[in-house]
Amino acid sequence: MSRPVPFALLAASTLVLAACAGSASDDTPVAIATTTPLGSVVGDIAACAGGTSETLMGAGDDPHTFAASSAQVADMTRTGLVVMNGLGLEEGLQTAIAGAEADGATVLEIAPLVDPLPFGDEGGAAGEGSLDPHFWMDVARMAAAARIIGDELAAATSEDSYATCGAGVAESLLETDAQVREILATVPEDRRVLVTDHDAFGYLAAAYGYQVAGVVVAGGSTDAEPSSADLAAIVEVVRRTGTPAIFSNSALSPALIESVAAEVGTDVAVVPLYVESVGPAGSGAETYAGMMLSNASAIADALG
Ligand SMILES: [Zn+2]
Repeated sequence: MSRPVPFALLAASTLVLAACAGSASDDTPVAIATTTPLGSVVGDIAACAGGTSETLMGAGDDPHTFAASSAQVADMTRTGLVVMNGLGLEEGLQTAIAGAEADGATVLEIAPLVDPLPFGDEGGAAGEGSLDPHFWMDVARMAAAARIIGDELAAATSEDSYATCGAGVAESLLETDAQVREILATVPEDRRVLVTDHDAFGYLAAAYGYQVAGVVVAGGSTDAEPSSADLAAIVEVVRRTGTPAIFSNSALSPALIESVAAEVGTDVAVVPLYVESVGPAGSGAETYAGMMLSNASAIADALG
């Protein structure tokens, strides 16, 4: 009488396990992106091809300092492709990503593949000859990235639709690039001067004909502390150029840049931009394209 019970239990638990395994593989994301701009683009490609993706960071997270949870590290080893920015952007994720890679994850580091630029003169603390990770501030480079991500997803899944969808998202981003260019071109050439909180605008300046006149925190990271000499120098740049605005980053504390603005006087505005992250839901900047169009409008309004 006791014998049939284990058989019944075994059969039932086998069915349950099979069902779980089936639904788990359906829900497994084809890709995990690190930053929110990449997450937006990867999400569009995956949705177009009928898959899902996840993004480690949330709106407002600073990719220079973000650290992954242990659950996120485990997820990275199970997904088909980890899409990271690279070139040292994700300083707080390096150990986690190296660990995931050692456990079998395939990692695509995208910034080195889209013709990266060296840091400008203002980024001296980042080191001579080092490459700037902030490529997404040039929408055409993000379009090139979309194409590469689509191709890599097609290889990872053996489904060509990912490559087709990557090309489609790239086309759409090239339209966004043209819109951003049009908005930024409304600023007279002699006013296309950017003073920013950290060195994240080299690509935007090069792509759309602007000049980075000064950076409050030298170097490409966000966690360096400026010296009082650095602050005095940036106040001097703002006064010399007569720029009406200093651009800050929605992912960073505005206290530092506001102290610079206070030192300069009342005629300089602090204008927040979505630099390191997309905006929160309802901001109009919650997608990568929306973020860049919102930034272009804010820059044009402040300088035009
Ligand atoms: Zn940055």
